[in-house]
Amino acid sequence: MATKRPQLNGVELSDHAERVLRVLEAAGLEAWVVGGWVRDALMGVAGHDVDICCAGSWRENEEALEAADIGVVESGIRFGGITAVVDGERIEVTTYRMDGFYTDGRHPESVTRASSVEEDLARRDFTVNAMAWHPERGLLDCYDGRGDLARRVIRAVGEPRRRFEEDALRMLRAVRFACRLDFVIEPKTASALATCAPLLDAVARERVGIELDGILVTARGGDALLRYPELMCAAIPELAACRNFDQRSPYHAFDVYEHIARVLTVAGELTRFRIDGGDPDQPPSPSLMWAALLHDVGKPGTFTVDERGRGHFYGHPELSEKMARAIMRRLSISGDVIRDACLLIRYHDRPMMAERQDLLRVMQIFSGEGINTARLMGELFDLKRADALGKAPSCFSYVEEIERMREMVRELIANHEAYSLETLDLRGRDLIAAGAKPGPRLGELLRQALAATMRGAVPNRHEDLIAYLDL
Ligand code: ATP
Ligand code: MG
Repeated sequence: MATKRPQLNGVELSDHAERVLRVLEAAGLEAWVVGGWVRDALMGVAGHDVDICCAGSWRENEEALEAADIGVVESGIRFGGITAVVDGERIEVTTYRMDGFYTDGRHPESVTRASSVEEDLARRDFTVNAMAWHPERGLLDCYDGRGDLARRVIRAVGEPRRRFEEDALRMLRAVRFACRLDFVIEPKTASALATCAPLLDAVARERVGIELDGILVTARGGDALLRYPELMCAAIPELAACRNFDQRSPYHAFDVYEHIARVLTVAGELTRFRIDGGDPDQPPSPSLMWAALLHDVGKPGTFTVDERGRGHFYGHPELSEKMARAIMRRLSISGDVIRDACLLIRYHDRPMMAERQDLLRVMQIFSGEGINTARLMGELFDLKRADALGKAPSCFSYVEEIERMREMVRELIANHEAYSLETLDLRGRDLIAAGAKPGPRLGELLRQALAATMRGAVPNRHEDLIAYLDL
């Protein structure tokens, strides 16, 4: 008969995690499940990795686990803890600790240990993250994390300003959790975000980048910009110049910053529809989110006013692209995301029509090593659509044209039209077989064939292309 697994709020603890917990306790080391697993289980969500905190030192924990034949790896700098690996499941085991979370390469031995689980919970960031649970001893919730879950609130454990002074990254974590869970940040905690925002300068840019990535993929980055502008501008100082920047244009109902926030919101929502197919439960594409966030960051730097008093931003896509690349590099965003986001930014404002050749030319630019052309074109249309909807009502009708273009690109791809040497139905070896001499001229012939088929002079079919080239 199957024994009943321990569960919290109907969410079962995995048997691997239970085994780690039991082994530690059998060695006389008190242990609890903590952090995200407890929070998510109380919200009825399973699937979060299990973090365990334990009264033993990391060496004692390691010895106890190894004595029970559980594999252990040192999990490195992040928690200064160890990771138990049972049948491939990784379970973090940390000691009760007094000091900060990010040890920055300090060896776990130098960590100041706490004497009780309560002390360990006290140094955690938010009430909803500061609960511990044990199959027999139940829930340990010293800060009413459960109440805050029910109220859908992110609240600092203790005095928010002090907690942000200790570790400024917590400010971005607050926003990330609020966006991800769709919670609000409790007023005192939120006001500390505004006053403590400058402290973010002391945090490594790479960590800021990781948190921003985490905020963007919740699809609620637009809310983050509108609700926590001081913090978001501390994370990306270039955004500060966009705040309250009047565009002086009948096409823009909002200042640059608010426009950006709206575009980010709409782009996030569009990914749920997955107009191009795909799984609506997947998070939005990072390249689309970063492009939406930074597509107009160059606007203040290109602003001019004409004789009628209207504002213009000639060249802003190019400047935005340049600035975006520098910003994303500084934040250590992944190279593929930077490449794709920069292409989207450069083309977001380019006039385009639902016209075969025009679209094929953009597809040609949106192709190359590692680029998924179909996906990126879909993201371009999402960005353009979001951009139009974030302007003024007079721009909304452009959406229909955008959807015509989207449809046309889908047909071009389905019909195997060529827009790159890779999609051309002709290879160098075909040319040799047809009598052409090997050498640099082959490349030239292929490019000629590509140009001709993109122009519509010849179908993208092997025989037709050979016949066209008349070798
Ligand atoms: P996620 O689902 O994003 O992994 P999580 O709650 O597991 O959420 P982690 O970053 O994995 O978050 O951290 C695990 C736990 O460690 C948190 O729940 C929190 O209790 C604590 N924690 C992590 N970082 C900090 C920090 N900078 N300051 C205080 N406590 C932290
Ligand atoms: Mg986690």
